[in-house]
Amino acid sequence: MHENIEKLQIKFREAIENTGDLSQLENIRIQYLGKKGEITLLMRSMNQVPVDQRPIFGKRVNELKKLAEEMLEHKKSQLHSVHSEKRWEKERLDVTLPGRPFEIGKKHPLTMVLEEIEEIFTCMGFKIAEGPDVELDYYNFEALNMPKEHPARDMQDSFYINPEILLRTHTSPVQIRTMQAQAPELPVRIIAPGKAYRRDDDVTHSPMFHQVEGLVVDKGISLADLKGTLLLFAQEMFGKEREIRLRPSFFPFTEPSAEVDISCIICDGKGCRICGETGWLEILGSGMVHPKVLEISGYNPEEVTGYAFGMGVERIAMLKYGIDDIRLFYINDLRMLRNVK
Ligand SMILES: [Zn+2]
Repeated sequence: MHENIEKLQIKFREAIENTGDLSQLENIRIQYLGKKGEITLLMRSMNQVPVDQRPIFGKRVNELKKLAEEMLEHKKSQLHSVHSEKRWEKERLDVTLPGRPFEIGKKHPLTMVLEEIEEIFTCMGFKIAEGPDVELDYYNFEALNMPKEHPARDMQDSFYINPEILLRTHTSPVQIRTMQAQAPELPVRIIAPGKAYRRDDDVTHSPMFHQVEGLVVDKGISLADLKGTLLLFAQEMFGKEREIRLRPSFFPFTEPSAEVDISCIICDGKGCRICGETGWLEILGSGMVHPKVLEISGYNPEEVTGYAFGMGVERIAMLKYGIDDIRLFYINDLRMLRNVK
């Protein structure tokens, strides 16, 4: 009888020592101390023990039961602390680690160029003027010396909303609006940045594009003032070593008119593929304000003169950033947008 108790105790101790987790420990408890557990059954077998041996047997089995309970409890707390240590290790938070970086956005290349153009001209004393994108035919054509039957209107394939209203085909109507609002006060010195629209769609033309219009009207304004202003602009925008040249051209609202070229920013005038071996790149159109335009806007062409120019912002941005397809500005390709510095 005592031998059985001894063996059971050894068996129990081994089971406890070999267990590594809490659910296994619970199984051991049930196996020995549950309702049908081995130690429980041993206690129930008391009536099979001869009467004179019962006190000692009872005492021994009780001792075993108490020992078993203590060992279970001890093992349980041991496993608990191992468990929470593992959990701690797993969930540990290193507060000294660097944080997750935020993606920082940046300005669109057209916005950057537009702001740079505005900066250069406002530093020269120009004010910024604006006009509507949806414009009257009168301001877009007629007041700019292009009457209804004028051949220059055929040059512009326009988005008409009705026979009198269209999406402006250039920012030049802002010239008229500004002068009419200000006349007869002098000087007029504005740039008008904004969108313009034409039925064009290829690698260098987009149906919607950006222009910056420039207009100066005062007493004694000459072509030399225009040239000086544009030379300074070209040098601020494309580098101090830039030169410009004016080529005779034609616009209905300026007389004389000139296309303005800058010395090639790639080859410095030596001739390359970008400038078509000419050494020059066309950047804008300009001229002296046509007397009829001054008159229609409320100024006396006998007393005042003025110059005007208009540049394509996309054209400037393409040259500045070496982009050869205008459509890249509008498809939001992050590879292109990130590369523009
Ligand atoms: Zn070149």
